[in-house]
Amino acid sequence: IRQREAEQRSQPARTRDGHTLDIGANVNLPEQVALALSQGAEGVGLMRTEFLFLERGSTPSEDEQYAIYRAMAQALGGRPLVVRALDIGGDKQVAHLELPREDNPFLGVRGARLLLRRADLLEPQLRALYRAARDGARLSIMFPMITSVPEILRLRDICERIRSELAAPQIELGIMIEVPAAAVQADVLARHADFFSIGTNDLTQYTLAIDRQNPELAAEADSLHPAVLRLIRATVDGARRHGRWVGVCGGLAGEAFGATLLAGLGVDELSMTPRDIPAVKARLRASDYATLQQLAARALDCETAAEVRALDLPEALLEG
Ligand code: PEP
Ligand code: MG
Repeated sequence: IRQREAEQRSQPARTRDGHTLDIGANVNLPEQVALALSQGAEGVGLMRTEFLFLERGSTPSEDEQYAIYRAMAQALGGRPLVVRALDIGGDKQVAHLELPREDNPFLGVRGARLLLRRADLLEPQLRALYRAARDGARLSIMFPMITSVPEILRLRDICERIRSELAAPQIELGIMIEVPAAAVQADVLARHADFFSIGTNDLTQYTLAIDRQNPELAAEADSLHPAVLRLIRATVDGARRHGRWVGVCGGLAGEAFGATLLAGLGVDELSMTPRDIPAVKARLRASDYATLQQLAARALDCETAAEVRALDLPEALLEG
């Protein structure tokens, strides 16, 4: 039985009618890659690099980062690696950076906003990544908390300058969609980003105006709220217009039912905690893509998150 399970996990997430999703793992350290692969990951869809800063009380040097990104790519043996540039602020505070205190850190200088103000953090990281790419590492970079075109253009310019200084190859530069502004304007942002990765944790927080850490509101902070699903649809539509691929790396991607809805909404890749991969793959492999598309259309028309959740019935899957 164990062997059959292991075989199942290594199968692609292909629906019964032949539609395949790419399955990545959210993994932060090279030593976690083997476990992710054993669970059926086909690559890393989200490497949260803030952990390199959080876990050690000091800023890792360019050389240290380079060694880690290289080791990560090596452990993946040619499978894709999406590295997220440093995402500090909001719930991710790094004490040793001594950033100014803010009254509303979730609405403050976080993610890309911080990177664009702190070349001392951004540039060593980009150099480390491009050096790894120059060595043959298969990786792409994505930027967190993007809300506008100028942010992408400025980040792309910095990347291009560093790439040419290092004579490194071009790599895909993507953005996270985790703010409603980015989802609504996805068709425009897609002109300037090579791919999108939807962060449903923050997208839910900012769409519903619910602090993702507030225990009192945890039950209401539901990523299946139809408003969130509509923003995901807008993101996919915007990406399609420009031929970009769309992943989801927030928590919804790792829920079996959420994953089927995301597939039905047209997402190309799902990246999740390694332990969630087997159940998500099994669920997708038991589904028909045509049915999932109908399921997604019904979810978009629901009035409440509870109604969307009620679509999670075997009957609903079978009837279509
Ligand atoms: C998200 O916001 O959904 C996401 C993947 O990023 P993080 O959870 O690290 O903020
Ligand atoms: Mg986020």
